[in-house]
Amino acid sequence: MTVGAGAAEHGRVTAQIPALAQVPASCFGIAVATVEGQIVHAGDSTTEFSIQSLSKLFALTALLQQDPSAWSHVGWHPTNAHFNSVAELERSGGRPANPFVNAGALVVTDRLLERTGDAVAATVDLIRRESGGRRVSVDEDVAVSEMIADHRNSALAHVLAEHGRLSCGIERLLAQYCHQCAITADVQTVARAALFLADRRRLPSGLAPATVRRINAVLLTSGMYGAAGDIAYRVGLPAKSGIGGGVLAVMPGRGTVCVWSPPLDADGNSAGGVAAIERFAELTEWSVF
Ligand code: GLN
Repeated sequence: MTVGAGAAEHGRVTAQIPALAQVPASCFGIAVATVEGQIVHAGDSTTEFSIQSLSKLFALTALLQQDPSAWSHVGWHPTNAHFNSVAELERSGGRPANPFVNAGALVVTDRLLERTGDAVAATVDLIRRESGGRRVSVDEDVAVSEMIADHRNSALAHVLAEHGRLSCGIERLLAQYCHQCAITADVQTVARAALFLADRRRLPSGLAPATVRRINAVLLTSGMYGAAGDIAYRVGLPAKSGIGGGVLAVMPGRGTVCVWSPPLDADGNSAGGVAAIERFAELTEWSVF
């Protein structure tokens, strides 16, 4: 925890969503869930935080449960561009790089919305079910706070629509996307909900083992945005972050670890979260390599 707190001092709590700028920088929670069913946690591990882009992982999973071929619409290639880059989407002719940058995540939410009528509910249900019925909510203030100033996601949605990549209306999609990002849960819930990525016996219905392997592969190459290579080198685990300060890492066959520490580094990843997971991986020798 000292390691995480030390690194957090060099980061900054996100200013992108005004409602999240109020979250105290000193919050720190960690939870480890193992495939044997153990859960170990410390710090602010029962405080619900804004999972933000961690939701992209669960929305993608909910979509792949229904449509295993959805990869062809969202891509699976790493990119060094910022997670909400409009220039990158323009350069690629409106084709998202992967489901973890905002352009790809908007396509995921659009397709999940089209299939289920409520992408937020589908994502919340998945997290709740996979975590064994733990508390999962949506923070309306955070969702509205993002929607009011959401020019960038709006621009991305318009570029996607121009290229014929969306089925639902832009306003409806952006409202759903911002509510999906505003899902709140504690680190124990997130660690447990993601355990299916580490444990083949826990496959959510409709998900093939090959799909889980692919999700882990794309998490490793793209889950931490431009820092993915650095995280693969330093930590060696598939991982996903969110601007609320959450980071989740997966050790296939062993378990998951989730850390929440709000200050972010220059790549938009939790500075303390990454440092804590790096130290944890070192101590436990968790690595996919
Ligand atoms: N809601 C944020 C956005 O769409 C999520 C970004 C993130 O957590 N990296 O920009």
